[in-house]
Amino acid sequence: MHRRKFLRNSSMGTAGLLGASALASCRETSPEPLPPTEAKGPVAVCTWDFGNATARAWEVLQPGGQALDAVEAGVMVEEADPKNQTVGLGGRPDREGRVTLDACIMDAKGGCGSVMGLEGFVHPISVARKVMEETPHVILVGEGAGQFAEAQGFERQDLLTEASRLEWEAWKEEANYQPIINIENHDTIGMLALDAQGNLAGACTTSGLAYKMRGRVGDSPVIGAGLYVDNEVGAATATGLGEEVVRTVGSFLIVELMRQGMSPQEACEEGVRRILQRNQGREDFQIGFLALNKRGETGAYCIHPGFSYRRFDGSGHRNIPSESVLKS
Ligand code: ASP
Repeated sequence: MHRRKFLRNSSMGTAGLLGASALASCRETSPEPLPPTEAKGPVAVCTWDFGNATARAWEVLQPGGQALDAVEAGVMVEEADPKNQTVGLGGRPDREGRVTLDACIMDAKGGCGSVMGLEGFVHPISVARKVMEETPHVILVGEGAGQFAEAQGFERQDLLTEASRLEWEAWKEEANYQPIINIENHDTIGMLALDAQGNLAGACTTSGLAYKMRGRVGDSPVIGAGLYVDNEVGAATATGLGEEVVRTVGSFLIVELMRQGMSPQEACEEGVRRILQRNQGREDFQIGFLALNKRGETGAYCIHPGFSYRRFDGSGHRNIPSESVLKS
């Protein structure tokens, strides 16, 4: 049932619990969702300057393909690239030298799938999609996720490249068991797309913080934190220090702010502001949010300068530097 109609129909029954005025004000601040005919796709955006990933997504979208297929195909480009040491093959390991991957995906119908701590598979995003499509569950973790991936026909392989192994060994020499959050060069890829049919989808995939504790999971595979899609409103994704994004349920917050009428840019700025409010005086971490609404409008905001996003639409392909709270 349509959400507004549901609110209207159920307001009599729930008024006693929530208070009639609370319900009324909730309805007042929520604009009507954009009719699907006004959606302005296709468009694909992703965190950071991953031109090959958005170009791949565009190959799917441009001839009329679905947003869900576009975001999966787009982020797979980075998962397979051993030079990107924060995603998939060649990702930096945990502090015990094991590459553990996190990913999630969401479609236009509210479907979602996630894998956490997956080892030995190059494309966690595709395993997450299988979780969404082939199981009654949303999340599979660790070896259970690995067994499921194998049963689905994905091949196991060693993901620790020589470059990442050597860096990890050098890091161990320092005997400094601090997970590293690099404030300038995250490469987690979150991708959002709006297709020509007006449907949204999103994907987010990462190897997480370099040299993290074994078992640590950040925001990227957590629905609502690293990624959220609501086909009535828009979609958002995050990169940076996952713990802070989880604490604010960042991507869900941004989509809800857009529902209340904010532009993607305003919503990302408010999301960053909420995180900074909880971390007053702390400047040693980076968060970047990226959002896309049903009109195809995008926005991004981060704490430190350096974050940018890639956008591919009918008018071209470009890298867009993000505004930041701290200016230098
Ligand atoms: N958000 C990722 C995590 O916390 C890391 C990153 O984006 O660099 O696992």
